[in-house]
Amino acid sequence: MLTQAQTITVRSPATGEPLGEIPVQSAAEVETAIGRAREAQMAWGRLSPKERARRLVSFRKAIAHAADELALLLAKENGKPRQEALFTEVLPLVDLCWYYGRRAPRLLKPQRIRLHLVVWRRSIVEYRPRGVVGIISPWNYPLSIPFGESVMALLAGNAVVLKPSEWTPLIARRVKELWDASGLDPDLLQVVYGDGSTGQAVIDRVDQVVFTGSVAVGKRVSARCGERMIPCTLELGGKGPAIVCADADLERTAHALVWGAFANSGQVCASVERVLAVESIYEPLVARCKQIIDTLRQADPTQFGVDLGAMTFPRQLEVVGAQIADAKAKGARILTGGAPQGHFHPPTLVADVRPDMAIAREESFGPVLAMLRVRDEEEALRLANDSTLGLNAYVFSRDLAKARRLARRIEAGTVMVNDVLSSYGMVETPWGGIKDSGLGRVHGDQALRDFCEPHHLNEPAMPWLGKELWWFPYRENLYRLGITAIRRLFG
Ligand code: NDP
Repeated sequence: MLTQAQTITVRSPATGEPLGEIPVQSAAEVETAIGRAREAQMAWGRLSPKERARRLVSFRKAIAHAADELALLLAKENGKPRQEALFTEVLPLVDLCWYYGRRAPRLLKPQRIRLHLVVWRRSIVEYRPRGVVGIISPWNYPLSIPFGESVMALLAGNAVVLKPSEWTPLIARRVKELWDASGLDPDLLQVVYGDGSTGQAVIDRVDQVVFTGSVAVGKRVSARCGERMIPCTLELGGKGPAIVCADADLERTAHALVWGAFANSGQVCASVERVLAVESIYEPLVARCKQIIDTLRQADPTQFGVDLGAMTFPRQLEVVGAQIADAKAKGARILTGGAPQGHFHPPTLVADVRPDMAIAREESFGPVLAMLRVRDEEEALRLANDSTLGLNAYVFSRDLAKARRLARRIEAGTVMVNDVLSSYGMVETPWGGIKDSGLGRVHGDQALRDFCEPHHLNEPAMPWLGKELWWFPYRENLYRLGITAIRRLFG
């Protein structure tokens, strides 16, 4: 939270205990940081991808050695259970460093393109870094999201200026300390602290932006990047539907849905936000989910043996509370859950949700599982696609061919069959959404190359040839030759 003195006071969402203070940086300080990053990038960008990958190994090792400390800090600052912090934040980050460290040299090496028509010339594409990449990130995964993106941008030869959420800046500060101690150029990875205005100052000066956050802010970021004509990747909200077919494995499905809805207290862009279960499985599924939810342990997230911790962002508690109240008023059944205590919102199961209720339409981003009964898979599909959002979706069925057919018709960036959420940790696969859920992808080969400008060099393959046929002067006989050639080749 920002105070009048322009200092961020970070408190543990679980206990309210103050964890630290961070001074907010002015626009001038942001400008200086970006200037230093720009200087550092020049030498870094000239290194081969292989050499960059080699140097980044020390950073990966530093994160791996600090795994326990980082998981504990995440539990304190963000409120997710320590074990979850380890497996959903620290592990994906070190694995991404390892995977792309090996892959980047191959993906970023110059590519020769064989020309099929103009065979007397040849083309080479080189992947050149864009310069300084601005990364603006949210509070829900304050380690894996911004630093995974940073490592990809750095491997591609860029410098990075990161603006973490004002709600979770301490983890970024600690990782920056680890970076500085790893023998890497401190100016190459900069962290600037503040709120939305600090984010804007970053966008105004960098060469590329990767923004993760809400749809509303994402649209503003995109507009500003458009004005500046710089590329931006947008990772925005979701309203993850889970279609449950009659033949789904009840036990696996119920466990998956409960984890998918309540991991990180539901503050996951890919959360299972609405279950669309066909009639014949609906009641047993609701009953089994309730049984599992009733076993979940919610307590101090720094302790072991805890499944749910506290919610990070106070405003999100209000959103969830209002959606539950609205659903109840409109006839939904609240089967388990209740009022929050402090930042601890109990895992809440809402049955008999109807498609017109806010809980079925708007992002909840909290520990609530909304169950909708549908006639058949076609109705489930129609409702799944009836959303402005399209990040992740899920299908549960024992019939994999049918599940795949359904998955192909769902409007979403990723569809998982018989599983939830975990594709973020499968770092070789593209992550991102369609519709209002965003633009571009942050994982996958394409994402790494998107941190580069494809520089095309075209040169003669037969340098002894004279002038090109299509140069001046234009002549009728060439026109006639063109007609014959087009008909022969393409007609
Ligand atoms: P916000 O959009 O409120 O904020 C995201 C980041 O942008 C924060 O660092 C914020 O700073 C900063 N910011 C706010 N206003 C501006 C501005 N005008 N210009 C530049 N930067 C700005 O999102 P939340 O932090 O609340 O995150 C929750 C949202 O993120 C959810 O909708 C969720 O679905 C989405 N999300 C998407 C993911 C994906 O991969 N698609 C992954 C994770 C979350 P500050 O917080 O300091 O105000």
